[in-house]
Amino acid sequence: MDPETVRNLQLAHLNKLRTIHGHARNFVKAENSRFVDEKGQEHLDLIGGVGVVTVGNNNEYVWDCLQKCFNEKLYMMGAISYRNLAAAFSRNMALLSPGQKLTRTWTATGGAEANEGVIKLARLATRYKINKKRFLSTLNSFHGKTTGSVFLGGKEKWQKYQGPPPFDVDYIPYGDFHALEVALASGIYRAFVVEPIQGEGGVIVPPPGYLAKARELCTKYETYLVLDEIQTGCGRTGKFWACEHENVIPDCISFAKGFSGGLVPFGGYIATEELWNAAYGTVETAFLHTATYQENTLGLAAGVATIDFIYQNNLLDRANKMGAIMFDRLSKHQSRYPHIIKEVRGRGMMIGIEFYPLPASVQELFGEFYATPVVDDLANKHHVQVYCSLNNPSVFRFLPPLTIPEEDLDEGMEAVENAITAF
Ligand code: PLP
Repeated sequence: MDPETVRNLQLAHLNKLRTIHGHARNFVKAENSRFVDEKGQEHLDLIGGVGVVTVGNNNEYVWDCLQKCFNEKLYMMGAISYRNLAAAFSRNMALLSPGQKLTRTWTATGGAEANEGVIKLARLATRYKINKKRFLSTLNSFHGKTTGSVFLGGKEKWQKYQGPPPFDVDYIPYGDFHALEVALASGIYRAFVVEPIQGEGGVIVPPPGYLAKARELCTKYETYLVLDEIQTGCGRTGKFWACEHENVIPDCISFAKGFSGGLVPFGGYIATEELWNAAYGTVETAFLHTATYQENTLGLAAGVATIDFIYQNNLLDRANKMGAIMFDRLSKHQSRYPHIIKEVRGRGMMIGIEFYPLPASVQELFGEFYATPVVDDLANKHHVQVYCSLNNPSVFRFLPPLTIPEEDLDEGMEAVENAITAF
């Protein structure tokens, strides 16, 4: 085939590819907080692969560690071998775990698979507790889109045509202390699974003390507390884990996204010895959950390198500092455009802007909320990438690399203001 035919075929297929967010470009290159598309146009990355490229796109330190795995022709598969990298990663995770109490690590290929692991862990650990047969989750939460994780999530929209759920689950309003107490006091829950900040729900920060209360009640009513830190973990909120803001030690944390620097699919969970042993501490159950790509070398190498990079470069401090700058700039936008912006909220470098609905007369054209045309304008006119939350189209959020230079952040904040001014 001649090159032009090949290119035309490729273009036809590019048009058929689906992306989660509508206005995706054919990005061909990425470095730190910048992308370049196939026409050579530069774009600013304020979404970080949806909270994935914590250490910047194509972080060289992480790349070098991956390159080393190839150069040394390391054995790649984890399912049938113990390896030093697996030991190093799980040691680091144990040391970084809240209270250094979550000393068991299981890794797989992403967030939804991590939460599938969590579901199985909790079901196995509570298999002899005859009264504890249900999961407790929160409305509007997001835990992935595989069959199990989608029912752990409290958004019906994503569960369409998938029922009945593979387990019993109830959803309570997020951040509601009373609902939490009433539900847990029933004593029927295996585990309460909750995000420290609802990311896809629209960057919803719970009232202070919510996680601490969840810990207290879960202990009292013998329910495992599982935190989904897939979006909030790895320094995003200015602490390595978001639950550290409230000194909470959960029984299990699921992680993914930022942990491999966005370079290889990676995720998993950490759990206490007690929870792990209750689930897998018998010959009968030991291998009820495995996967060919569990503990794969590239994921672990990227994981070890990403954590190293975060601590060597004080990225937790940076997340706090740059997050404060962002929050301040966006709050000023809010006071200037109070009829468009309802609220700015978040923690560290996880910040969302909630917009008011557009006038009904133009909703058909532009979408229900100001967020949609502002995001489109940012992408098309200002070459800045941000996306609306999956569960909440009134909110778009910023999850930039923690390594973003201050001048890029400035440029981004100015672009946001210009995009809002257009309305
Ligand atoms: N949990 C949370 C809190 C998430 O934000 C996401 C993804 O956005 C997931 C789970 C699912 O992760 P993945 O897309 O890697 O399956």
